[in-house]
Amino acid sequence: MENCIFCKIANGEIPSATLYEDEEFRVILDLGPASKGHALILPKVHAANIYELPDATAGKTMILAKHMAEKLTNALECDGFNIVQNNGEIAGQTVFHFHMHLIPRYQGDGVELTWKPG
Ligand code: 5GP
Ligand code: ZN
Repeated sequence: MENCIFCKIANGEIPSATLYEDEEFRVILDLGPASKGHALILPKVHAANIYELPDATAGKTMILAKHMAEKLTNALECDGFNIVQNNGEIAGQTVFHFHMHLIPRYQGDGVELTWKPG
């Protein structure tokens, strides 16, 4: 996909702080982190949102999220973890290449997610 910043980052055309890479994914640090260690899972294949994402990639994204959450929790000794994924402007999506947020949480961090249960 031309002119997609996350395509370029995922495929290594633009350098990034990469925590993990394989044939299908790159995991990077978020440029505007909500908390220490806030990372993004980027599939290398372009999909604007979850609706366009191939099922196989969606499944692998969730498995990778689980493994990265475990690794980041051990490395950062955070107290909790949010895994967030936005679709559409109304839902807070600003980059229209599917990505999953990995947000380590710390006691008293004051991070406010857009939506809270209850
Ligand atoms: P969204 O709002 O679409 O769910 O999330 C987009 C995220 O991408 C934001 O948290 C924003 O800080 C991050 N972001 C936007 N542009 C860049 C970039 O060029 N590099 C990195 N590493 N993160 C970016
Ligand atoms: Zn893209």
